[in-house]
Amino acid sequence: ARWTVADGWSELRLDPLSDLSLSPATMIFHYGQAIFEGLKAYRSAAGDVRLFRPERNAARFQASARRMSMPELPQETFVAAAELLVDAQREQVPVEAGHSLYLRPFMIATEATLGTRPANEYLFSIIASPSGPYFSGGFDAITVWATHDYVRAAPGGTGAAKCAGNYAGGMIAQRVAAEHGCDQVVFLDAIERRYLEELGGMNIFLVVDEGGGPTLVTPPTSDTILDGITRASLLELAPDLGLTTAERRVDLAEWESGALAGTVLEAFACGTAAVVTPIGRVRHRDGEFTVGDGCAGQWSARLRERLLGIQEGVVEDTRGWVHPL
Ligand code: PMP
Repeated sequence: ARWTVADGWSELRLDPLSDLSLSPATMIFHYGQAIFEGLKAYRSAAGDVRLFRPERNAARFQASARRMSMPELPQETFVAAAELLVDAQREQVPVEAGHSLYLRPFMIATEATLGTRPANEYLFSIIASPSGPYFSGGFDAITVWATHDYVRAAPGGTGAAKCAGNYAGGMIAQRVAAEHGCDQVVFLDAIERRYLEELGGMNIFLVVDEGGGPTLVTPPTSDTILDGITRASLLELAPDLGLTTAERRVDLAEWESGALAGTVLEAFACGTAAVVTPIGRVRHRDGEFTVGDGCAGQWSARLRERLLGIQEGVVEDTRGWVHPL
């Protein structure tokens, strides 16, 4: 589905997948005005097709556009484009549990000029692809590399926007993580290089028991952390399962050695692609440690089951999160 703006937006169009033809002077290639989203269409056991909270993706797309001096696509247009595409590709939405049709909405600057200023022409488009589980190990715990060398985002920067450059900057850290035998990188804060922020494409949670029962802890969103829709949904679902929640900063060194160590029962990463993926081991410049017993934990499993259950229609959606098509 495509929409373009020069002076006002054109009509939404459904096109077969095709290449784009752009001048080498197109501003996207030079100044990087590119934002995107990721969401999934699920098929329930009964066969109907649905999106999960697409209005949140539409709102985040607008927030990303504001940060990147790009036009704010009306939220209704974002959702209508997703509906148009999924409706036309209905048979591509897989039946198998854990599988879905992944949608990738994006907007790029398409004006061709070498002047450094916000572009006057943009393309908004959504492409779709069937997808399966993000990690080949399924629900097996992953090992993460906490990097002291590279930051994903700095205060005042673009970390809270889903813009292309954030991912380009993080690739080197992901490569170093792989060189250390880790599946994913965990970024620390830019100022002190102490506090957990997030992974390259996932938010992070700990399940902590400090005596008063298990608490789901995640760093507060700020201008350096992406406001994940999975994160927000899990914070809302947790009390239903008997977990209290807290948004507070977590110090890596404290987690490893200090007051937190014995009380962290579980850790996991979460996102549209990864759903809930347990973290069993953490490595970093100065050492490594195991989280809980190093395996997928019961709270991670329950949260994952509840969230996927709502998305796939097995658990009742009491919050109006499911967007039927
Ligand atoms: N952080 C980053 C940097 C991401 O790219 C993503 C994926 N969109 C997430 C967190 C998780 O966000 P969501 O739950 O909305 O997919």
